[in-house]
Amino acid sequence: MRQIRLHDTMSGELVPLHPREGGRVRIYVCGPTVYGRIHIGNARPFVVFMVLKRFLAHLGYEVTLVINITDINDKIYDAAREKGLSSVDLAAQMKSCYLADTDALGLGRPDAEPLASESMQAIVSYIRTLMETGHAYSAGGDVFFSVRSDPRYGVLSHRSVEEMDQGEGIHGAERKRDPLDFALWKAGKEAEDTSWEPREYLPEGACPEQWAAGRPGWHIECSAMAESLLGVGFEIHGGGSDLVFPHHENEASQTRTARGEELAQIWMHNGMVRAAGEKMAKSVGNIASLREVLDLAGEPGAHAAHTVIMYLLRGHYRQPLAFSAAEVLDAERSVYRIRDALRRVAAGQSSPAEMAHHRQAFFDALAEDFNTPKALAALFAWVRQANSQAQPVGDADLREMLSVLGMADMQPLQAAGSIEAIDPQAAELLREREKARRDRDFERADALREQLIALGWQVRDGPDGAELIPTPTEG
Ligand SMILES: [Zn+2]
Repeated sequence: MRQIRLHDTMSGELVPLHPREGGRVRIYVCGPTVYGRIHIGNARPFVVFMVLKRFLAHLGYEVTLVINITDINDKIYDAAREKGLSSVDLAAQMKSCYLADTDALGLGRPDAEPLASESMQAIVSYIRTLMETGHAYSAGGDVFFSVRSDPRYGVLSHRSVEEMDQGEGIHGAERKRDPLDFALWKAGKEAEDTSWEPREYLPEGACPEQWAAGRPGWHIECSAMAESLLGVGFEIHGGGSDLVFPHHENEASQTRTARGEELAQIWMHNGMVRAAGEKMAKSVGNIASLREVLDLAGEPGAHAAHTVIMYLLRGHYRQPLAFSAAEVLDAERSVYRIRDALRRVAAGQSSPAEMAHHRQAFFDALAEDFNTPKALAALFAWVRQANSQAQPVGDADLREMLSVLGMADMQPLQAAGSIEAIDPQAAELLREREKARRDRDFERADALREQLIALGWQVRDGPDGAELIPTPTEG
């Protein structure tokens, strides 16, 4: 099977993917906290790892992808209180929105999407193991993880102790034995409308006095859910780069100390989506929801989904990605270029041998740290060469590449007539230009042509009248 290399945050190197059991690849990715509609930044790991799974499956690997849903969290309690809803109702509503918004991308679902609220048995048992092995302690109803009990703590994020802030503010500060420690369990508070009784999940007499009813900390949820679905030592753990510390450092440490083994072989992290140079965040108020971006992405349905996937895959997954309406429009033009090429190819026929190197370059790029911009460059090189042929070429290679990227159902652009549906403003300008030419007002015709170019269209005058062609871009 083809050798795959991926960048591992822990070693800081490109490492070969070596599945433990034959061709089986197990992937766990930290999914959204469901307290509001997900934004385009949350959609990035969803798209990156769903497409990575498609690529590995295409090569013959047997892939299991788990993306969890965090449905117990401070942010959910706060947002529910603001809206006057119960935290359970808000989380259920926002989970439905998350499923609908990501369904609209047409990439299917992960193999499992566990909820923290439905994984309490595994979470409580995990905490108990950490207490019994001396890596955790209870105090005043809470349970804390003892960071200095793990000599390898810090190996993932490569931070010095001085740079480590668990981000828990004053929560339990006076009960922690060390300020570095973090909460595995938080005793219930008045402002929180859900709580779980640890005794219900443990054998009789096994629950320490000092462990009160309450709810789990975020980090232990992921260690427990990942292990119960995939085991320990699975192939890939993924998530956004903002999760490296403290979330993933803590996940890794919990599993290492409880099981004496590393949670995952490779830690993959995607860069942030940034609006005008800043990380998108609710606190900054520069958020675009996935739903809004899909609306911005042109014709509803497959076309909009392909535009959003194209936008997210045009950047390398490890790099920050700029977000603006212009970036989305640019991605849409790339989709039009492919749809325009699909109009001219011979559907269902094999591709010419002299174009096979583009397909090769496409798969080579994905095999080397999942380089989607390089793979797209190979796909567009194929499109350019196909467009330059006198006779239509077979579309098999192009269709194969599109399928790996989650765009198998891309439809050929219909000639001229459909411009009306795609871009009514452009269609109107084209009609005005035709009229200006009939009136021999060439100055106005030229001005209208310039306006069309600004909108991303080139005008091609042919024997049957003028036609609009999407402006070529480099992918
Ligand atoms: Zn997580």
